[in-house]
Amino acid sequence: MNYIKENLEKIRADISNNVTLVAVSKTKPIRDLQVAYEAGQRVFGENKIQEMVTKYEALPKDIEWHMIGHLQRNKVKYMAHFVDLIHGVDSLKTLKEINKQAHKHNRVINCLLQVRIAKEETKFGLTIDEVANILNSDELKSFTNVKISGLMGMATFTKNEDILNEEFSELKNVYNHHKKQHPEFTILSMGMSGDYKIGIKNGSTMIRVGSSIFGARNYIS
Ligand SMILES: *Cc1c(COP(=O)(O)O)cnc(C)c1O
Repeated sequence: MNYIKENLEKIRADISNNVTLVAVSKTKPIRDLQVAYEAGQRVFGENKIQEMVTKYEALPKDIEWHMIGHLQRNKVKYMAHFVDLIHGVDSLKTLKEINKQAHKHNRVINCLLQVRIAKEETKFGLTIDEVANILNSDELKSFTNVKISGLMGMATFTKNEDILNEEFSELKNVYNHHKKQHPEFTILSMGMSGDYKIGIKNGSTMIRVGSSIFGARNYIS
């Protein structure tokens, strides 16, 4: 499994120190994560809460765990004691549940609002207006145990650089706009295996890379 170490080194050489690399390990066995860990990787992303819990329990405790998938509210409680960043938040209802579970553990959980930038109908996420509504809501101010640290988005699945540049730069603009009012905004999560270079060119501070590190996924997720 030397390829995992080699892939990590290749990607790290491509990106600067101020971009965080999230190794997306969904569907991959624990031994693959162990190899990445031994190669120095400390930030991992999963998209199923139960799978992340199993891996958290099996692996060293200095790993930072990111939930990147669409959230099932009734499962937030299983990860509230350890999750470091939740990327895919798309409603006040979900924030309310995260706040409640974080409070039970006396923690503040960092969250990103997911913005729908792709033109594809299938992608999750908030419209630009919905992002503003959440950030300006009084209800959000009452949530003492969540912190919105920035935004996340997924571009259209395409190799067309014009489309990718357009979608990523739109997200960057939304991010910059809100950062003025929200200095706690420090994270712009955009870019995956196929498009992280374009994400970074457009101001990404965090990339979520799976198949370019671990190879093709083991099953459909
Ligand atoms: C699976 C996934 C990734 C990683 O995808 P790759 O193309 O394998 O790098 C990134 N972000 C999200 C939200 C994902 O679900």
